[in-house]
Amino acid sequence: MDEFRADLHCHTTFSDGSYTPTELLKEAKRVGIQAIAITDHDTTGAYRQALTIAPSYSIELLPGIELSSIERREPVHILGYAFNENDEGLQRFCLAHQRRRKERNRAIIERLKNLKLPIEEEDFPINSGSVGRPHIAYAMVKRGYVDSIQRAFKLYLKEGGLAYVEGDHFSAEETIEVIHRAGGVAVIAHPHLITDQAVVDYMLTLPIDGLEAYYCYYPKSKCERWLRIAKKKDLLITGGSDFHGSVKKIALGASWTERATFELLRQHYQKTIDALPKSD
Ligand code: AMP
Ligand code: ZN
Ligand code: FE
Ligand code: FE
Repeated sequence: MDEFRADLHCHTTFSDGSYTPTELLKEAKRVGIQAIAITDHDTTGAYRQALTIAPSYSIELLPGIELSSIERREPVHILGYAFNENDEGLQRFCLAHQRRRKERNRAIIERLKNLKLPIEEEDFPINSGSVGRPHIAYAMVKRGYVDSIQRAFKLYLKEGGLAYVEGDHFSAEETIEVIHRAGGVAVIAHPHLITDQAVVDYMLTLPIDGLEAYYCYYPKSKCERWLRIAKKKDLLITGGSDFHGSVKKIALGASWTERATFELLRQHYQKTIDALPKSD
């Protein structure tokens, strides 16, 4: 059996994960996986930090990101891989997302205040990047309003919850274009979570490069539909755990990408880098 596993979906303290980049690399080594892509929400900050230390853990790193979009009121997450992490368009897009997050978080906090559940940004866990609903959920647990992050989502923060705010958003089409312009490949994250068939159909008309058919602890039966579609449309088949550390109970390496696909992504990255103008 091929022992190679590349977990191409995990989060760090640069977004809503609880592990620092170093702790994540240590964990990857501990569970025996060979490669990872850090796919923080709307930031590549962790990649830059992890790059210098990854060789000492013998873990291969691929640049990654998870960008949120909304189609027909439904969240659709798009993973970007193997892009030039210094691409100006991509970094500008990340900054636009940070602004969107700030405004949305403010609106959610305002709603909570009106529900007599005030929280302060000081309640958030230490963070150096993309702040989102998990941070708000954490603050609500800390204040004793709910007994778990899951409960905070269920009652208040998920779509339709009492304090839910959709906020500003970007389209999937625009997101895919930003990733492509940065030389990357665009993969639909956890397609299993899209509930509206019309959104699935629409997404498959866009110039995507792959599907995250293997996700989290999802059994083969749940993945088969996506494997079939990917094969039929000649799309990359990727996999990842969506590891968030203590925020979610999923182990790193719960799902993974196979060697041959990782090899294609590695080659793609090499081409992206080779195409950049030389600075000297
Ligand atoms: P945001 O980026 O602020 O829209 O928050 C989305 C993130 O919240 C997701 O990527 C998950 O990490 C987390 N999340 C979404 N739904 C839930 C839930 N029901 N329970 C716990 N975490 C969730
Ligand atoms: Zn997340
Ligand atoms: Fe996601
Ligand atoms: Fe994720």
